[in-house]
Amino acid sequence: MASSTTGASSAAALPDYAPVPKSAYGPALNAQGFYVGRVERNLYWITDGSYQCAFLTTKDGVVLFDAPPTLGGNIQRAVDEIAAADGVSNKVTHFVYSHHHADHNGAASLFNKNVIRIGHEETKRLLLRDNDPTRPAPEETFADRRTLKIGGERIELAWRGTNHSPDNIYIHFPDHDTLMLIDIVNPGWAPISMCNLSEDIPGYVAAPAIALEYPWKHFIGGHVGRLGTRDDIALHQQYMADMDASIRKALVSVDPTPFFQKYGDNPWAAVSALFDAWTDAGAAPIIEKYTGVIAAADVYTRSTVFWVMESIRLDLGFASYVHP
Ligand SMILES: [Zn+2]
Repeated sequence: MASSTTGASSAAALPDYAPVPKSAYGPALNAQGFYVGRVERNLYWITDGSYQCAFLTTKDGVVLFDAPPTLGGNIQRAVDEIAAADGVSNKVTHFVYSHHHADHNGAASLFNKNVIRIGHEETKRLLLRDNDPTRPAPEETFADRRTLKIGGERIELAWRGTNHSPDNIYIHFPDHDTLMLIDIVNPGWAPISMCNLSEDIPGYVAAPAIALEYPWKHFIGGHVGRLGTRDDIALHQQYMADMDASIRKALVSVDPTPFFQKYGDNPWAAVSALFDAWTDAGAAPIIEKYTGVIAAADVYTRSTVFWVMESIRLDLGFASYVHP
């Protein structure tokens, strides 16, 4: 009883945030905690409200794209449900990795028997390096582009440079009007910490424009409880562009002098306080503009501003000071 009392008082002490716009949510989950729905024709998506993966039913078997561990055993349940309804095979014959991260593919080993695994060559290298038994390395790899033709269906895989991770690929379904691109845009929602925990920020910022070069109507982003639209991508691009402008303004308008005056003998304290001041100044107008427009803008914008600010300084060299 003591622990539940402690839990209640701790929860009450946590901060409140702006309400999540209804449009950010997707369909209701079933009793097992997932939703499976048709994207178009024989392409389906599965969500638990936070993570997404996709599968294609074909006359030769099922092609699965990603296996998030939070969905885990529900992936095969979803496939079984659809295959039974459509009267097709429920056997997963091919597995495609979007990228190597465990949060999207830590259930890959559930599909281990007689499955052909396909991924980018960097995905293979990273999975061999990290040696996690839940994510067996793909046997079939590609460098730039690869067209899969499985059971009469066409899937276009492309690596267009590093972004969220070094190996993150574009998965285009030209005959299903759909693009799958993971961990770049969370439709209706702000990116989580530091641009969805991305490694290459110029690549991350450029990715949505590449996504829009493809023809598609449906977007599978890998996160949140609903699919995306082209308007969701455009809104995300505006959010990131406004953030970039706001950060540049903060970097040239916050005066670093007082931080170094106060912490003259401890430069790390000065830098820490200056980073905080830049981040707060850059984030404030973005939080103001996007709260109520993009869900959790008030939760996560500050973290993403910090990471984009460091990229603008370190990758782009903006506001860099050369000693005379
Ligand atoms: Zn990732």
